[in-house]
Amino acid sequence: MSLRGIYGGTFDPIHLGHLRTAWEVAVTIDMPVHMVLARTPPHRDQPSAGPEHRWAMLNLALEGQQRLHPDDRELRRQGRSYMIDTVDSFSEQYGGVPCLILGQDAATGLDRWHRWRELLDRVHLVIMTRPGGHDLPVAPELGDLLNEREVAGPAQLRRSEGPALWRCQVSALEISATAIRLQLLQGSLPRYQVPGKVLNYIRKHALYRAESRI
Ligand code: ATP
Repeated sequence: MSLRGIYGGTFDPIHLGHLRTAWEVAVTIDMPVHMVLARTPPHRDQPSAGPEHRWAMLNLALEGQQRLHPDDRELRRQGRSYMIDTVDSFSEQYGGVPCLILGQDAATGLDRWHRWRELLDRVHLVIMTRPGGHDLPVAPELGDLLNEREVAGPAQLRRSEGPALWRCQVSALEISATAIRLQLLQGSLPRYQVPGKVLNYIRKHALYRAESRI
């Protein structure tokens, strides 16, 4: 069965940690990956940069390649960005079971997501792990469900009839959007952490400075 990945985030800003890991998952599983920009994430602080800036930066970052696709369906929807609505919209558009790609930190908190049990029945999960990384503690009900669904590799994921989970090892890149915003706020340049075009965009629009909360 053909697979399609959903890699959601506030991308505030998009950085090489997001891009490298998304690319590795896309290549390893051999599937297109949609980088879905969250407008108003329900589970965390609201983004610093406005959605139009984050969308522009995402597009700049993804220029010139075929595997990763900028996806604005959450921007086009009114109200809060719930993943279950995004997943339903993918299934409607493309058919099949989408693969929800998450970092381990995000996977640990899945049981706080809106209608999480239903969500997990409608997706395959791809949890990105890092070499030498440790399993983070999860609540027992979520932990049991994840263990039951785990498969050994991308081939099994592709063949799975029901929702499955595969842990995909990706490179560890200690880059974080929070640290990038802090560097910009303090007047230093986060070189080699975001694509050059994104850094130019941030400078041109004076994003993430104290006076530019948009
Ligand atoms: P912030 O610092 O603003 O919280 P973030 O990058 O963690 O930024 P998002 O943009 O919402 O927040 O992240 C989207 C996804 O990217 C999440 O699943 C997160 O686990 C993953 N991610 C973020 N940084 C990295 C990284 N350096 N390596 C791998 N995955 C990452």
